[in-house]
Amino acid sequence: MFSPSDFKEKKACIIGLGSSGIAAARLLLKQGFEVLMTDSRQEKDISSLIKEFPQGASWEANGPGQEALSSGFAVKSPGLSWSAPLIKKIKNAGIPIFSEMEVALSFSRTDHIVAITGTNGKTTATTLTGDIFNQGLAFGQNVHVCGNIGTPVSACVLDANPNDVLVIESSSYQLEDSSFFHPKVSVLLNIQPDHLDHHGSFENYIRAKARIFRDQNASDFCIFNSLNLETVKLARECPAQRLFFGDDPKSSHAWVDGGKIHARLSLKDSPFSFTPPNLPGRHNLENAMAAILLALASGISTRSIQKALTQFKGVEHRLEEAGTYRQIRCVNDSKATNVDSTLVALKAFSDIKKRLILILGGLDKGSPYAPLKPFLSQSVKAVLTIGSAAQKIENELDGIVPISHCENLDKAVERAFEIGEPEDILLLSPSCASFDQFKNFEERGKKFKKILERYKS
Ligand code: ADP
Repeated sequence: MFSPSDFKEKKACIIGLGSSGIAAARLLLKQGFEVLMTDSRQEKDISSLIKEFPQGASWEANGPGQEALSSGFAVKSPGLSWSAPLIKKIKNAGIPIFSEMEVALSFSRTDHIVAITGTNGKTTATTLTGDIFNQGLAFGQNVHVCGNIGTPVSACVLDANPNDVLVIESSSYQLEDSSFFHPKVSVLLNIQPDHLDHHGSFENYIRAKARIFRDQNASDFCIFNSLNLETVKLARECPAQRLFFGDDPKSSHAWVDGGKIHARLSLKDSPFSFTPPNLPGRHNLENAMAAILLALASGISTRSIQKALTQFKGVEHRLEEAGTYRQIRCVNDSKATNVDSTLVALKAFSDIKKRLILILGGLDKGSPYAPLKPFLSQSVKAVLTIGSAAQKIENELDGIVPISHCENLDKAVERAFEIGEPEDILLLSPSCASFDQFKNFEERGKKFKKILERYKS
């Protein structure tokens, strides 16, 4: 466990020069530590990053050098693997290594911590939870939404007063490095095989996820998805009070019926009923059920919960309504960087019979596209392919629906408006990474929305 007083006067070595490493460096400098940033790359390869380093921090390339190996402790950014030579060398030198999140939390003046993890839906559920807390907190109390969602915990922890709440989106990478993480309320949305290259096996990935509740106790809550086998299995070993969202009113703390979400903290209680956010898909109902249970377990009023649910518009690039142009509704799901996410999108539109024009493609991630087939024949009138995966997609989906090879987003949107008819839906849900043509999925989604503006009638 990182306890700042144990390491006073000791030099901190920051491993990983991304945004969380830089935020951790800034935090530790503010706390009076001497800080060294280390990277195994050569100087020319990190020169563009150096200008981001906080003033007062020293740095080294070709690490770890003598300086890093004489540090009092090290802080590991979540993206780095424990098998990376840089980490191994520092570890073998006997230097204790802590996670960025836990170092940050050791300076926290608030212990009102809630945390959300899951293979899918983290950002949506975390954003909604932040909105609910914003509605429901008392005057003078603030909510800080941080973690994997973008703002590192290190960047916001000093702003949080003792009564404030930290809502932390926790990735398996962050959890894997945790040794004492203790949220008062936690959520395990779902677990599917993912990031296996990093974790080494599905079992390791599951063990990382289980750390969200490992240090909780009987006065805490953990929320599970009763329709997801792996989370149900993990629930058996959870020391906190367990709440389940599912579909059986008898055994669930939250479920959907008659267009409402019903939720309660005890199976003996009568439920409160909520109108869900106006977002497509069963998955968004699950995210909302999780956020509602988390809020109820945190003592937020049902009125505040409902207000936030009503106002919630979803998160950019996740089945985001991108406007209606020439009577064609356009939806930006650029975050769908794998086939599973596109399946989620197609399920959300399963009542749209043959009216979807679907843009697929980008950088292939190696999984088959065939699972899309049944949904294509049901809802999709045409597929438009872009990017380096186009040929593979065309080969694997041949013969189901008409496919147009479009190369890039500009051409795909142009083609969509050629073949589209009023009340069709143009859906960008590419099943692929974006890096062949874009910096990231955010840039791809923004470009899509920009192109659409040309089609204002
Ligand atoms: P994450 O932060 O875990 O990547 P997001 O909220 O950003 O999750 O959603 C990413 C994609 O995951 C969405 O576009 C959707 O396809 C899918 N998704 C979102 N919520 C869920 C859920 N509860 N269950 C399954 N898939 C989901």
